[in-house]
Amino acid sequence: MALQGKILVFVDLPDGELDETGRGLLSYGGRLAGIAGLPWEAVVPVAPGEEARTDFARFGAPAVTQLNEGAALLDAPAHLAHALSSLAKEAGATLLLLPHNDLGATLAPMAAARLGAALLTEVVSVKKGEGALELSRPLLGLRLAETRSWDGAGSLVMTVPARSLSQVLLATVRPSAPVFSRFAVKEPCAADTARVTGRIPPDPQTVDLSDAEVIFSVGKGCDPATFGQLQELCRLLNVSCGVTRPVYDLGWTGFERMVGQTGRTVTPRLYLALGISGSMHHVGGIKDSRRIVSVNLDPKAPIFPNSNEGYVADLKEILPRLIDLAKNAPGGAA
Ligand SMILES: Cc1cc2nc3c(=O)[nH]c(=O)nc-3n(C[C@H](O)[C@H](O)[C@H](O)COP(=O)(O)OP(=O)(O)OC[C@H]3O[C@@H](n4cnc5c(N)ncnc54)[C@H](O)[C@@H]3O)c2cc1C
Repeated sequence: MALQGKILVFVDLPDGELDETGRGLLSYGGRLAGIAGLPWEAVVPVAPGEEARTDFARFGAPAVTQLNEGAALLDAPAHLAHALSSLAKEAGATLLLLPHNDLGATLAPMAAARLGAALLTEVVSVKKGEGALELSRPLLGLRLAETRSWDGAGSLVMTVPARSLSQVLLATVRPSAPVFSRFAVKEPCAADTARVTGRIPPDPQTVDLSDAEVIFSVGKGCDPATFGQLQELCRLLNVSCGVTRPVYDLGWTGFERMVGQTGRTVTPRLYLALGISGSMHHVGGIKDSRRIVSVNLDPKAPIFPNSNEGYVADLKEILPRLIDLAKNAPGGAA
């Protein structure tokens, strides 16, 4: 069956402008439309600001539709999902694409239920197969991937993780039946009256390292004293703490703090590698970080060629100085 209908790409516009997630999603939506050979358009809850309008043009969004009463509905997800699914029906959309952030992940199942559509979350790669799209998403912390086919029969709601668009999938598993389970359309329920009263940002000390924005990690170049200092620094700056396998093996942290091939794959804005040699097993888990800064006593440590910035220095000197800086910085923790 040939793919038909239209793709709608929902982007939330914090303060009326596109953030990085929105820009990534638009670029993804445009590419997806090209692969599927379907027309597409963007849907927004609020009026786009000046920069957002330029961005929409830059990403080639052929049209941008504002949801009726979208701004007022932002804190009432069930109503927003209702407005979005009504628009999708009117527009003859067969594929609705949302970001896998807190808003998108909340709207997606409700919109799918309203549309009687299949739902596929955290899709990171799309390929054209025989008269169908092959959509893949990671499983088991990126160790496996699951691929589903969408042949255009029925509609599909799908979410894309905000910061994983470039992630490489490690293996592909094809389920034998390329069929999605469908949602039954439910009658309005208690969720319809739920309102968002506030948003609590994740705590960097406890957030899953795969979602952390800034990670300071130590390797075997630390000792109990410098490890304690790293933990203090992470608390002062409110950033996430990671370790290499030998440090995990010492029993100083839980498994969820270990970064690398066997541990977490991470994609932070900043990864600070302290006393880490840079083995392939560790680097494999950090290579998609936006910026890697490393500190090591050995100028030949393999971590340096894998870093954006590197410093030959001793943790015993560096960590106390960083703690002082953190304590005395304007607006800092002191
Ligand atoms: C199948 C398999 C899976 C693995 N999975 C993982 C994984 O998921 N994650 C992981 O991390 N490892 C993993 N490993 C282990 C990996 O191969 C390395 O052994 C490990 O990453 C090395 O950790 P490290 O850099 O802390 O230690 P080392 O390689 O011992 O490096 C310590 C570094 O600290 C520096 N240093 C020493 N003292 C100081 C100081 N005072 N100041 C500054 N620098 C100093 C040294 O110059 C050295 O470069 C795996 C191994 C295997 C076989």
